[in-house]
Amino acid sequence: MSSTVISNIATLVTNDPSLEPGSPRSSKFGSGGRSPLGLVRDAAVVIEGDRVVWTGESSKAPATDNRVDAGGRAVLPGFVDSHSHLVFAGDRTEEFNARMSGRPYSAGGIRTTVTATRAATDAELEANLTRFLAEALRQGTTTFETKSGYGLTTEDESRALRLAARHTDEVTFLGAHIVAPEYAEDPAGYVALVTGEMLDACAPHARWIDVFCEKGAFDGDQARAILTAGRARGLHPRVHANQLSYGPGVQLAVELDAASADHCTHLTDADVDALAGSRTVATLLPGAEFSTRAEWPDARRLLDAGVTVALSTDCNPGSSFTSSVPFCIALAVRDMGMTPDEAVWSATAGGARALRRDDVGRLTPGAYADLLILDAPSPVHLAYRPGVPLVRAVWRRGRRVEPRPV
Ligand SMILES: [Zn+2]
Repeated sequence: MSSTVISNIATLVTNDPSLEPGSPRSSKFGSGGRSPLGLVRDAAVVIEGDRVVWTGESSKAPATDNRVDAGGRAVLPGFVDSHSHLVFAGDRTEEFNARMSGRPYSAGGIRTTVTATRAATDAELEANLTRFLAEALRQGTTTFETKSGYGLTTEDESRALRLAARHTDEVTFLGAHIVAPEYAEDPAGYVALVTGEMLDACAPHARWIDVFCEKGAFDGDQARAILTAGRARGLHPRVHANQLSYGPGVQLAVELDAASADHCTHLTDADVDALAGSRTVATLLPGAEFSTRAEWPDARRLLDAGVTVALSTDCNPGSSFTSSVPFCIALAVRDMGMTPDEAVWSATAGGARALRRDDVGRLTPGAYADLLILDAPSPVHLAYRPGVPLVRAVWRRGRRVEPRPV
């Protein structure tokens, strides 16, 4: 197995808490000059096969077969985007344009995408999915989760999961995105379908089960029934919780030991306390608030309470059509009270926690060699230079994938 050293790294983000005092769960985190990022200056990373085998100061790096000069730039773990909806067809340009222009718009929201997705061929759906994955990879995302939820029939939901599973291990069954239009008058019948025949068809293709727990989607009792049924089939829960209003989603996520409660925009003190006392990660999705001109989630409040926070894109054609984790980092720093270091941690190690993974989101021996070189000396530039394509090169599983070798 050949080995490669990436050396001459100005700032290396390891996310190894032992390298710096403080931890992401510390309430003083970020305020005393301490970083959660386990930073190493003048650093090197050694890769063997698909794994990191060594990190440290460049001058101490062991001999290797190959050498890459990072040119005094920053290196960090590939982004872990733990929340996206990439199996869909069509787009919702008109809906976005109307919303941003202050004009009324009465089309069907998610239902518009459901109609287009059902009408698409497998090849069309997969081509769309791979296009967005390539786009995300160019922006540094090396691990991603994605969901069904635009089929809402047994056949269309299981098809979406089969297609997603060709591209990632982190596949989520979201048959409970909204009540399928055919069941508009019989939501209980739809819950019975999701927990019965649809779950039977979908469980073999997914790792996770998710519910949109919100007024107009599924209430707390329905969400509990769906997540509990999924868990009985070996799927682990995650929840779309407290996005548009206060509600039971976060408490339910904690009760069921969900890996993640996603959105967390409208939280009571009891919700924050519940998260702080649990393993459930609060996944914040600022692309959604940006694209709907909604109130920002308060990341500072969560971090100060000791909650583990992840940052993800929520990439979907309706409410957050961005695949850019760097963009979400910039928003989180500018508008959600996160320090640049906290935001970078949340988009890497935080995303890994939200997927209950310890083999990604860090650059320490044993982790996958998923990393990116920034065209900047420090990861702070991700927020300092918003909108600038700073990702210069990406390695995934020990191979350079962006720009592709010629
Ligand atoms: Zn979502």
